[in-house]
Amino acid sequence: MQDILIKNGKVLLFENNDVVIKEMDVKISNEKITKIEKNIQQEPNDYVIDAKGKVVMPGLINTHAHIPMSIFRETTEGCKLYEWLSEKIWPIEDKLTEEDVYYASMLSYIEMISTGTTCVNDHYFISNAIRKAAEKSKVRTVLTRVLMDSDGEENLQSRISEFEELYNSKDKENSLITYTVSPHSFYTCSPRALEESRRLAKKYNLPVHVHFLESIDEIEDIKKKHGEEAIKVLKRYFYDIHTILAHGVKLNDNDINELKNMDVAIAHNPVSNLRLGCKIADTTKYLKEGINVSLGTDGQGSRK
Ligand SMILES: [Zn+2]
Repeated sequence: MQDILIKNGKVLLFENNDVVIKEMDVKISNEKITKIEKNIQQEPNDYVIDAKGKVVMPGLINTHAHIPMSIFRETTEGCKLYEWLSEKIWPIEDKLTEEDVYYASMLSYIEMISTGTTCVNDHYFISNAIRKAAEKSKVRTVLTRVLMDSDGEENLQSRISEFEELYNSKDKENSLITYTVSPHSFYTCSPRALEESRRLAKKYNLPVHVHFLESIDEIEDIKKKHGEEAIKVLKRYFYDIHTILAHGVKLNDNDINELKNMDVAIAHNPVSNLRLGCKIADTTKYLKEGINVSLGTDGQGSRK
């Protein structure tokens, strides 16, 4: 295998808990960074990349995305979250084919590669087709088959079967693709759907990835569906499972207090939240309280 030598870039380094940028070269041998120094001499086996005028940094990690939504751009203008989902997105998604999802995913992967994103945590369906695109693009991907039953209890079992088929047909040699169990949200999942999500997460020892307190309407809807607040629902089903909470815009002080003692991370999607009129999560406060916060893009339907 060829070594890689990245020359003349501005290298982003972490020093004393801070980020510094230095003009240096980077040498990679056997897929590991072996040197970060000025003027590393080129050797015969080196594949040289001239990074002049560019930043050399670790890959970005997109912790909440709906990969195939590249074909849903510009569908949100003037819509609130529920209206956008039920009137615009879900009717189109019902018509998607495997081929649509494959090419829509490839388009997203091209965008990710062009922005330096090397890992993405997905939340979608027709996931066989996404997996094909992930294998081809070689972007590290966390896959799932989203579970929900607000459109009819009878749909839950087929979604669970699709998830299990996806997981059980995984390529054990491909460490770039891993999996989560992903209920859509607490307002679109019945208690039974959440119990099943818990069962699957335990059975396969997987983390959970779920939309959580994204919009104001959700707060009451969750209470109606589950008879208790979102934070209690979270604790009831997933208290001992690592859980990625997409959004967390509407956390109150009690929620923050509970979350800081749980194995959770908030995937913060500011562009999507603002475009859908959900306001913005107070991530400064979350970080001060010791909650892990990461960045996500959400789907391209709710961002440019
Ligand atoms: Zn989302």
